[in-house]
Amino acid sequence: MKKEICWNITARCNQNCFYCHRFNHPKDLGFEDNLEILNYLIEQGVDEITWTGGEALTLNYIDKLLKISHSQNIKNKLITNGKLLTKRKMKTILPYLDSITLSIDSTNDDINYLLGRGRDHYGRINEILEYIALNNIKIKTRVNTVVTKLNISSIDELAKYLNRFELYSWRIFKFMPLRETAKINKDIFEISESEFKKIQKKLKNNSKIRIIEFRSEIEMENNYILILADGSVFITKNGEDKKIGNILRKNVSLSKI
Ligand code: SF4
Repeated sequence: MKKEICWNITARCNQNCFYCHRFNHPKDLGFEDNLEILNYLIEQGVDEITWTGGEALTLNYIDKLLKISHSQNIKNKLITNGKLLTKRKMKTILPYLDSITLSIDSTNDDINYLLGRGRDHYGRINEILEYIALNNIKIKTRVNTVVTKLNISSIDELAKYLNRFELYSWRIFKFMPLRETAKINKDIFEISESEFKKIQKKLKNNSKIRIIEFRSEIEMENNYILILADGSVFITKNGEDKKIGNILRKNVSLSKI
């Protein structure tokens, strides 16, 4: 069976999305501890690691871990808000990645500001997508979008914009108040099931992206074994988080999950 891990390697983030549902609390480990976790994943025969956080690129040694993982034939998938993905950084890390997923919810700077991503977010993502296209970089480029009350009216514009690029897939999530900040701000962001269905219908007609997936964030998390920044391992089922151990304390076995 293919073993896929989602590694929230840091709880730190350089954006402040008010709908964020990451685990806010764990403290970051240092390079040596994270290397120990990676070596454990290699021993356990993990096939794919989705590197995320927080923002994984805030760790200044992330390149080293990606390189080691890549050298062991593990597929590295990076989910990033793109803020630290300069051209220089792309040159360094893209060769180690199987896919890159960029998070963008709107092309409107005011909406991005209200979501907590910052007014410069669209510009940054645009620079990255242009760079990949202009340099004909062969990497699976995916986009993640969370649909909320604040950006639902601008999703058409985003679809038109994304049609300009050769994207591998577009995943569109319905906002879910899973935990932490997302739970606190539920009333600001939540949309109904029927609103989400309308968006699905519209985008199926308007988007040229071949793979377009509509999901609730709960469905996304149900597919993964999560490792948090402190090495704890969680499984999330139907919105409930269950801790099953900690890799550094050696009290978990991925083969039994
Ligand atoms: S949604 Fe992603 S980019 Fe936004 S604050 Fe949370 S971890 Fe950071």
